[in-house]
Amino acid sequence: MAYELPPLPYDYAALEPFIDTETMHLHHDKHHQAYINNVNAALANHPDLAGKSVDDLLRALATVPEDIRATVRNNGGGHSNHSMYWTIMGSPKSAGVGGAPTGAIAAQIAADFGDFEGFKKTFNDAAAKQFGSGWGWLVFQGGKLKVVTTANQDSPLSQGLYPILGNDVWEHAYYLKYQNRRPEYLAAWWNVVNWAEVNKRFATAKG
Ligand code: MN
Repeated sequence: MAYELPPLPYDYAALEPFIDTETMHLHHDKHHQAYINNVNAALANHPDLAGKSVDDLLRALATVPEDIRATVRNNGGGHSNHSMYWTIMGSPKSAGVGGAPTGAIAAQIAADFGDFEGFKKTFNDAAAKQFGSGWGWLVFQGGKLKVVTTANQDSPLSQGLYPILGNDVWEHAYYLKYQNRRPEYLAAWWNVVNWAEVNKRFATAKG
């Protein structure tokens, strides 16, 4: 079955003033939809892969037929990464969104980064330095949280890592509101992080 664009779990204006409504419309309705259209077109000629989730394809990228591997990596990656991104955000007016982390992830952040400020600095520095388009990620490896970045739409799943949270640093994610000021977007983004959802993903990452 062809992949479909998941609806946002909140209104397009819900992340204001940190992420503007127009950016959300373009980012979700146009950019994410385009990744889905492209990966669906590639998979149309490979009915044997039709039953697989995009995450399963990304976990086993080396086994994806060579003629569509780059499209799955780039556009399948785009579909998977954005599906994660929408769900780990929420309205800053909602309980458990923005502010300090809660639950198990809060304790693990304190253990591995000293405190939330130390974690944010490590994450924002790494994401600010990602040259060109890409993502900043929080993953769990060897019993510790770790900040990594990927270029383009490369998914941590292809490196055997499960993304606990990730922030999109493609210009399309912030340029309308923040222009070239990526660090400002990175700093503001924490106001819309949905810690309940991040805790769910942390539980999955721990296995
Ligand atoms: Mn994006």
